[in-house]
Amino acid sequence: MGSCEDQGKQEIKILPKCMCVHGPIIVGAGPSGLAASACLSRHGVPSLILEKSDCIASLWQHRTYDRLKLHLPRDFCQLPLHRFPSDFPKYPSRHQFISYMESYASRFSIHPKFKQAVLKAEFDCVSGLWRVQTQDHEYISRWLIVATGENAEPVIPEVSGLDKFNGRILHTSDYKSGSEFKNQKVLVVGCGNSGMEVSLDLCRYNAIPHMVARNTVHVLPREMIGISTFSIAVWLLKYLPLKWVDRLLLLGAYLKLGNTDQFGLRRPKSGPIELKNVTGRTPVLDVGALSLIKSGKIKVMEGVKEIYRNGARFMDGQEKEFDSIILATGYKSNVPTWLKGQGCDYFTKDGMPKIPFPNGWKAKNGLYTVGFTRRGLQGTASDAVRIAQDIGDEWNKHNNCCCCKKIQVKIQVNSTEERCK
Ligand SMILES: Cc1cc2nc3c(=O)[nH]c(=O)nc-3n(C[C@H](O)[C@H](O)[C@H](O)COP(=O)(O)OP(=O)(O)OC[C@H]3O[C@@H](n4cnc5c(N)ncnc54)[C@H](O)[C@@H]3O)c2cc1C
Repeated sequence: MGSCEDQGKQEIKILPKCMCVHGPIIVGAGPSGLAASACLSRHGVPSLILEKSDCIASLWQHRTYDRLKLHLPRDFCQLPLHRFPSDFPKYPSRHQFISYMESYASRFSIHPKFKQAVLKAEFDCVSGLWRVQTQDHEYISRWLIVATGENAEPVIPEVSGLDKFNGRILHTSDYKSGSEFKNQKVLVVGCGNSGMEVSLDLCRYNAIPHMVARNTVHVLPREMIGISTFSIAVWLLKYLPLKWVDRLLLLGAYLKLGNTDQFGLRRPKSGPIELKNVTGRTPVLDVGALSLIKSGKIKVMEGVKEIYRNGARFMDGQEKEFDSIILATGYKSNVPTWLKGQGCDYFTKDGMPKIPFPNGWKAKNGLYTVGFTRRGLQGTASDAVRIAQDIGDEWNKHNNCCCCKKIQVKIQVNSTEERCK
């Protein structure tokens, strides 16, 4: 980790194409980056989004499966300043959510720079500016907003023998539809929302999913008495302590789903909301997989001991043959791979802000984070509004001053594109 003192002594290497950005640089054009940009524009602050992919909301466009619907009701998934169309259903589909993101970007005239993967971003203590490097450019700004998401990279678990398997192995981020697995025996590793939904989708194509539930998991019905379980929890939390709300949710889940332990889905000792707050682990909101588990169409297996050429050996000694393996093993942040120097001090080694919600959005030296709250799109909205207010105040106080003058004084910029004058 480089300190500012070290930096002062180093010779500053500058990429040939250097751009001075008028306003903050936002890394990532997912819902969080778009929300931050939209809120900033409301305060009269321009911004530049750098996106490694070729489109906005790339997670939703490229790395989610066809049947995906928002897990939470639409009222909890709206971004600031622009509502979902009134004819959207309670749980919008992936396609509807993408069309909402597109209309959001167009409403606020957001035009990210695509195919700009940020490889390194570092605060330059000499100039007091952020230097952000992509494969072919260097961008410089007073502010850096990290919006690369909690789900930037798939987590690939270490499973003994996985490399020996002859069939297809893929992560859920590459899974599109069960149609590719018709009549196959499929090992689904992981029993979170993705593992459950992929297993459900596989059954619709006559595949035979075996879902590995190594860890404990809270399964809750998506709705109770016609109201979303999430809304009920939010409402109850206004009046009752968290422990009571957890107990009521578990009672409701028991009445609606029965004892999930008997199907191999052991519940954690902590309640669902407590667990979410402490570890970030989201409860599974059941959309139909549980009834297929009960009927035996989805088989729940204990942990995998070993994978071999055409099958798997399980912890309980069973052995089964499989055609394909789907890893529903979640995602991780990629911040530590590109945010260097003082900036990374603000993040844990897992790439999450060290300061928890609701105060994790602001670091120091003009560094901000949006969408790292473990609270989905609601957390994104809250961060984006706060960041825009904070930067907007500074921006308007200093009369829209750009960083360029500072750069000229402190750094010798050798630019071929947009010279810092
Ligand atoms: C399957 C699934 C379903 C979900 N359903 C819901 C739901 O119903 N409700 C809810 O509230 N939340 C949901 N979430 C959680 C979360 O709200 C979404 O993941 C949401 O997309 C997060 O937005 P984001 O912009 O923070 O991150 P992302 O959508 O991941 O966007 C980050 C962007 O940053 C880009 N990027 C990453 N690294 C770099 C780099 N180095 N340089 C440049 N660009 C980079 C990526 O390409 C990506 O476009 C779901 C998540 C998943 C995975």
